[in-house]
Amino acid sequence: MHKKTLAQLSAALQAKEISSVELTQEFLARAKQFNEQTNAYITITEDLALQQAKEADARIAAGNTQALTGIPLAHKDIFCTDGIKTSCGSKMLDSFIAPYNATVIEKFNAAGAICLGKANMDEFAMGSSNENSFYGVVKNPWDLNCVPGGSSGGSAAVVAARMAAAATGTDTGGSIRQPASFCGISGIKPTYGRVSRYGMIAYASSLDQGGPMAQSAEDLAMMLEVMAGFDPKDSTSAQKDVPQYSAAMNDSLEGVKIGLPKEYFGEGLDAEVATVVETAIEEYKKLGVEFAEVSLPNTHLSVPAYYVVAPAECSSNLSRFDGARFGHRCEDPKDLEDMYKRSRGEGFGEEVTRRILVGTYALSAGYYDAYYLKAQKTRRLISDDFKKAFADVDLILGPTAPTTAFGIGSKTDDPISMYLSDIYTIAVNLAGIPAMSIPAGMAGGKPVGLQLIGNYFDEAKLLNAAHKYQQVTDWHQQMPEGF
Ligand code: GLN
Repeated sequence: MHKKTLAQLSAALQAKEISSVELTQEFLARAKQFNEQTNAYITITEDLALQQAKEADARIAAGNTQALTGIPLAHKDIFCTDGIKTSCGSKMLDSFIAPYNATVIEKFNAAGAICLGKANMDEFAMGSSNENSFYGVVKNPWDLNCVPGGSSGGSAAVVAARMAAAATGTDTGGSIRQPASFCGISGIKPTYGRVSRYGMIAYASSLDQGGPMAQSAEDLAMMLEVMAGFDPKDSTSAQKDVPQYSAAMNDSLEGVKIGLPKEYFGEGLDAEVATVVETAIEEYKKLGVEFAEVSLPNTHLSVPAYYVVAPAECSSNLSRFDGARFGHRCEDPKDLEDMYKRSRGEGFGEEVTRRILVGTYALSAGYYDAYYLKAQKTRRLISDDFKKAFADVDLILGPTAPTTAFGIGSKTDDPISMYLSDIYTIAVNLAGIPAMSIPAGMAGGKPVGLQLIGNYFDEAKLLNAAHKYQQVTDWHQQMPEGF
């Protein structure tokens, strides 16, 4: 059963070929068995999962079902789950039991989906390799010596090794797409505001966006239909109806125009990755797609602008973790200042500390104009690049990441080289537009992701284009050996 798509699992449950309890037991067994190799879960919620599965079976028996009723999922440990540890990958929240559910979790509960557990992640979603987790690195199921990508590395590994039928992730600068690329799965970062951020622990609020990670575009559509929608509890969530994504997957691509940004195919792109992307372009041509070169001239400014804006916002968001309001408290503080200093010093890891320092510096009175304001202006230039490109094309296509999954430990001493692994994903978050990664081939035995970028709220177009590709290729169906 674990190889089946969400639609197939849903059909099997409806036809009573299998019960949700049986399906949940199968996935729980896989989750427990493979967690030893992959470390993809921080918490496996066995009792909750079985309880929810019983309730799902009752719903199915009563004919009161939705598409995801009874289907076992994993959630990134950034989403608050009532009564369950929600660590955000940090020692700071190691003992935090969330007292409420994130809106995304509420929506999955209402749909009758099963929560198998909480997936590992980089601390506070800061990272590109999952090496910044307090709970240890996640290993890529395709090569256990390599990273799964980050920050949603646990979610990506869970889906790749089928330790859940699908998973949630979040993407602030590439954290859904880059791990999806490294682990050979599909993932979509929706338009900013499409999915509620309520109860999703904040990293950089103007960039953060939750989204699904799954085997295929078809599965992503089913997940996104549940996750998306206006939420009065999130003032930045979009007041727009949610289209029936899964009903719009079969439109012909004849005459669809896709732009190839010349900046995404230059220096820094691994030659084998480039070949995979070129092969995918040929496949799309056979489907009737027309390609045109486009330019996103400010691409080179996206990483520097992001590494001012994101740390600035995180330095503010993470001020609540002070040992009094939230988070780890040190032993025997001498006074208030000692408590703040030691609690934060002990609770936060190295990368999070680095970003808080950078953000505080960039926002300080003397440097605000030079860094923060300038980064915001650059951000506008980057959005304008996309606006111009979308005047001529329907979608944009390129690589998701410049390389395949890299070796564990190979970039930990070089933050800049780590930051550059998001070079093709970060601009999308600065602009707030949707984008996805789908598996498109292999290089050196490791998966390569293809990135599709859309205009605001064009998730349906993206999913349609991805689905059409997946109907004529089988990269998304491949599984790592040994799982
Ligand atoms: N790798 C980027 C960072 O470290 C993006 C992370 C994310 O999207 N959450 O900030």
